[in-house]
Formats: sequence, structure tokens, C-alpha cells
Amino acid sequence: MMLPASVLITDVVARDGFQDEPRALSTDGKLRVIEGLVRAGVRSIEATSFVHPRVVPQLADAEHVMARVPRRAGVAYSILVPNRKGAERARASGVDEVRLVISASESHNRANLNRTVRESLDELAQTVGDLRSLAPHVTISTGIAAALGCAFEGFLPIDRILWLAGELVGLGLHTIYLADTNGMVSPRQVRDAVTAIRARLPEVTLGLHLHDARGMAQANVLAGLLEGVTQFDASLGGIGGCPFTAGAAGNIATEDLVHMLHLMGIETGIDLDILLQETKTLRGIVGHDLPSRTARA
Ligand code: ZN
Repeated sequence: MMLPASVLITDVVARDGFQDEPRALSTDGKLRVIEGLVRAGVRSIEATSFVHPRVVPQLADAEHVMARVPRRAGVAYSILVPNRKGAERARASGVDEVRLVISASESHNRANLNRTVRESLDELAQTVGDLRSLAPHVTISTGIAAALGCAFEGFLPIDRILWLAGELVGLGLHTIYLADTNGMVSPRQVRDAVTAIRARLPEVTLGLHLHDARGMAQANVLAGLLEGVTQFDASLGGIGGCPFTAGAAGNIATEDLVHMLHLMGIETGIDLDILLQETKTLRGIVGHDLPSRTARA
């Protein structure tokens, strides 16, 4: 097996996880989880989203969270920014990385962002311009939601993903996370998508954002690793979802991902024992069982 020596895990529990909790958690509780991730050695943390509080009230405290995250050398915070207004808020927040988002399918883009894909691309161009002129130090990455399966339209043709990735590259967006928003995709499809983008757009750095609705996320990670992907999103406890599609389930659990990678000799910089203690803290804060298998084992 040709495998990478190390991977970068971005923990998205504070955004993808907390946005999907039935009740909004306290800012203090969120910060305890983020502090725990830092303690465990997580170097990339998606801290919140600058989405409109009416759309996702669970993340209405985004500015307060960002103002209080523990600043450590080597720890980068990202924020999901769904539109130009969100970019304005990100600018003042001291964020290291902005994660932009667009959906591969028209129906998911409409549900998630209330725009056509073309309208979203136009807005992305303006958002990127805003960020580059006003916050030039901020790294920008882009998630393509539903790239690896759409709850409304099923699996999209690879040509569609290639076209959209090409549009993003045209905007200077070279770091792209392909999302399996609804946990639908199989390892073979992951491989096909990654190899197709690599062949057409070699300048792109690819990451994977995998939900685990059908228990396939670890297998899909392996498919990505074998194609040289070294950036993965994961969520402490395995919580998360998509507020805009029914039946969505959590992300691959960070503990499960770290456990597998370490057994395979792949470095993450994360201490699994500490991480599992933080899973217990998270369980206390959300007040319900977590999907994480490693925590249970
Ligand atoms: Zn997600």
C-alpha cells in the first residue's frame, strides 16, 4: 500500500456538529470542547460559521466563540462562510482560514444557500475579492457540498464536479474539499472523483469531508489515502449533519479516524487518549450518546 506519512485533520464538531444539535449549546460549552481539541493536539479547527443566525440559530454566538478560542502557535482556526455578508464578519474575527461553500447540485445549493449555482459562483468571486483585499493573510479553502452524492439528485456526473472545480480554480481557489454530505458515496466513486480532478486540475489540493450515514466513511478515507489525499474533515464524537436535508448523519468521528490512521502508521499529531477524554466532555455537554465507535469500544 502506498500511503501518506501524515495527514491534516480538521475537526469540524464546533460547526458541523453544533449546528445540528437540536438545541443551541452555551458558548462556554463550545469553548470547553474547542479547548479540549487543542489539548489533544488538533491543529486545524473549524470553530463556527458566519451564517445568518436566523438560518442556523445554534451558531448565533459565532463572534463570541471566535473572540475566546485559545490561541496557540501551530493551531489554525477556520470558519465556514456561506456568503459575502459572512466574509465581512470573518474579516474582523481574527480567523486564520475561511472555508467557502457551494453545492454541486442545483437543488442542494438552493436548499443550502438559496441561490442557483451560477449565482453562488458570482457571489464567491466577490467574496474572494473582498477577502483578498481586506484580509490578505486569511487562507481560503472551498467545500463542494453534495459533490460525492446529493440527497435530492443522487450521484452527479463526474463532469459536473470537474466543471465546478474548474470554475473554483478560475477564481484562484485551489484547496477544495469534496463533501459526501449525506454519507452516500462508495470508495470506488471517491477514487474516480479524486483521480479525475487530479488529472484535469493538478494544481488543486484536495480534501475530503465525509459523513457516515451508511457506515462507509472509513472505507472512503482509505480510498482517498490510496490516491494521496492528505486532508480530511472529521468531527469529535461523530456528530453533525446537514440542517437542510432530512436523514443526514454525522461526520466521520475524529476518534475513529485517528484510531485507524495511527494503526496504519500515519501521523496526525493528535493524542488519541486525550481525545477520548474530550469525547466524554462533549457527551456531557450535548447530553446524549455519540456515534463514535472508538469511544464506545
Ligand atoms: Zn458536513
